[in-house]
Amino acid sequence: MGEFDLIARYFLRPCHDAALGVGDDCALLGSLAEGMQWAVSTDMLVAGRHFLPHVDPQALGHKALAVNLSDLAAMGARPRALTLALALPDLDESWLAGFAEGLWALANQHGCELIGGDTTRGPLNICITVFGEVPAQLALRRSTAKAGDDVWVSGTLGDAAWALAQLQASRPVSADARARLERPTPRIELGLRLRTLAHACMDVSDGLAGDLRHILKASQLGATVNLDALPLSDELLALPLEEQWKLALSGGDDYELLLTAPVHHRSALAALAEELNTPLTRIGSMSAEQGLRWLSAGQAVTLSLRGYDHFSP
Ligand code: ADP
Ligand code: MG
Repeated sequence: MGEFDLIARYFLRPCHDAALGVGDDCALLGSLAEGMQWAVSTDMLVAGRHFLPHVDPQALGHKALAVNLSDLAAMGARPRALTLALALPDLDESWLAGFAEGLWALANQHGCELIGGDTTRGPLNICITVFGEVPAQLALRRSTAKAGDDVWVSGTLGDAAWALAQLQASRPVSADARARLERPTPRIELGLRLRTLAHACMDVSDGLAGDLRHILKASQLGATVNLDALPLSDELLALPLEEQWKLALSGGDDYELLLTAPVHHRSALAALAEELNTPLTRIGSMSAEQGLRWLSAGQAVTLSLRGYDHFSP
């Protein structure tokens, strides 16, 4: 099997949305409805850095797309299309079949069409670009939080980092924690519904402590976060407090949505969480006073946690 047979077998499916999909020099995207904009995002996953080399290929296919869809969710965008650039060390059909299965299952679930890509030999590397659509005025940005907003986060934090720490120490990992690491759920439906409820939004991929600072900087505001309100799984709650905070705030790989919303949307957000069966937890508030403050039991807590940074010394 050569490069073109590989593409045809695993990555060529009929397109219904795009005007032209896999097979020519470019794909052709159809036009957007009046008032809509494209939202575009790229995320690369490198073996040994973003995933363990022997991870289940089906989970990897899922995760490679999930982390990209999470960026669309964070902007309130609806997925339309993706491209896939793959570097493969060799042509391993059982690996490819698993990877493609994980990728297609999630793509189909969200009506996101694979319209093109690139395939080359090299150290395992997966780079996906997603294309979504969002009404021009409703894209959820990092820069539009307001002083007095509540700060909310979806799901639970720190489970993926906990699973990774356990795997790296060759200790047993629960199925739930492993699923949070290997099969994150992009919060697409939540993102769509937040368009008219949130002021600012982003996805938590590098740890809440670092990611919230991105919103503060972009919006030129500060925040106070109540550590006692952090949404944590029972597994994390069984750990020492400092360990809980470290995993939840600087662990990374959560792919939950972090948002700010006006106080008068509290009940609407609670109802939305119920409807979507996705927890939404109010963890703090935005302030005109700059800086990020942590509270526990009503007292200020000093934490020197940072988000994950590939190039920090
Ligand atoms: P070109 O040489 O013109 O850049 P390629 O030979 O790289 O085109 O790819 C042939 C076709 O297959 C193109 O339409 C390209 O978008 C598509 N393609 C290549 N690799 C992938 C992949 N991994 N997934 C989806 N489509 C792919
Ligand atoms: Mg060409």
